[in-house]
Amino acid sequence: MTALLEVEGLNSGYGRLQVLHDFSVAVEQSTITAVLGANGAGKSTMLKSLSGLVRPTSGKVVFDGEDITKLPVEALIQRGFTHVPEGGGVIPELTVEENLRLGGLWRTGPSAAKTTADAIDEVYDLFERLRERRTFHGHQLSGGERQMLALGRALVAKPKMVLLDEPSLGLAPPIVARIMALLRDLRDQQGLTVLLVEQNVGSALGIADEGVVISVGKVVTRGPAADLQSDVKLRHAYLGF
Ligand code: ATP
Repeated sequence: MTALLEVEGLNSGYGRLQVLHDFSVAVEQSTITAVLGANGAGKSTMLKSLSGLVRPTSGKVVFDGEDITKLPVEALIQRGFTHVPEGGGVIPELTVEENLRLGGLWRTGPSAAKTTADAIDEVYDLFERLRERRTFHGHQLSGGERQMLALGRALVAKPKMVLLDEPSLGLAPPIVARIMALLRDLRDQQGLTVLLVEQNVGSALGIADEGVVISVGKVVTRGPAADLQSDVKLRHAYLGF
């Protein structure tokens, strides 16, 4: 099997602060990979370095056989590579529907509006709650609704792969469970590939195929999610539980 995403020897950071050190990872198509590690390990920086929000100083990101390392964010979205940043990036002044429409802005041509409207309908089928709240503004939503909207907006772009940064942050356990179940269904039914950064280790490994543990900007362990979940020493050493 060839990987959908291959990251090779990425070095990245902020000015003189180097956060990622020779970071490499491969993600197979239609799988969920959980990225775990302590606060400050470099998980968010890794996602930003893949999606062009932070520019790596060296290394290579290959998506679907193409070197995307230097492509602008819009070009990545067009290729089906979408990043949902920490906090979701929902625009508080826009309505749910307007936020969702942003997910289709990259489309051009005569059928763009219709394709996006259809994609939004599919998102409403996944999240009835968003349909009910379509005229609400971002700032009127609960944390769980905002996170669903952020994920929904990414899905409007019809991605092959999503990078998710802490989708469960601050949410009540039943909502976390819903989001995790949804990700699992998207993988199983639509073949979506997911790179999932989570502090909520149990929930993430519960749905993941693979787990990757990062410490100080490097992969220290990777393996089947079930193996990582039962590895007590590893959990003590890197995950703090
Ligand atoms: P957390 O779970 O706390 O978000 P993380 O593993 O995602 O942790 P990062 O957010 O990638 O870690 O942070 C890695 C390092 O980079 C930390 O030392 C952090 O202080 C630093 N850092 C993060 N964002 C910036 C930024 N915009 N400018 C400068 N340094 C940053």
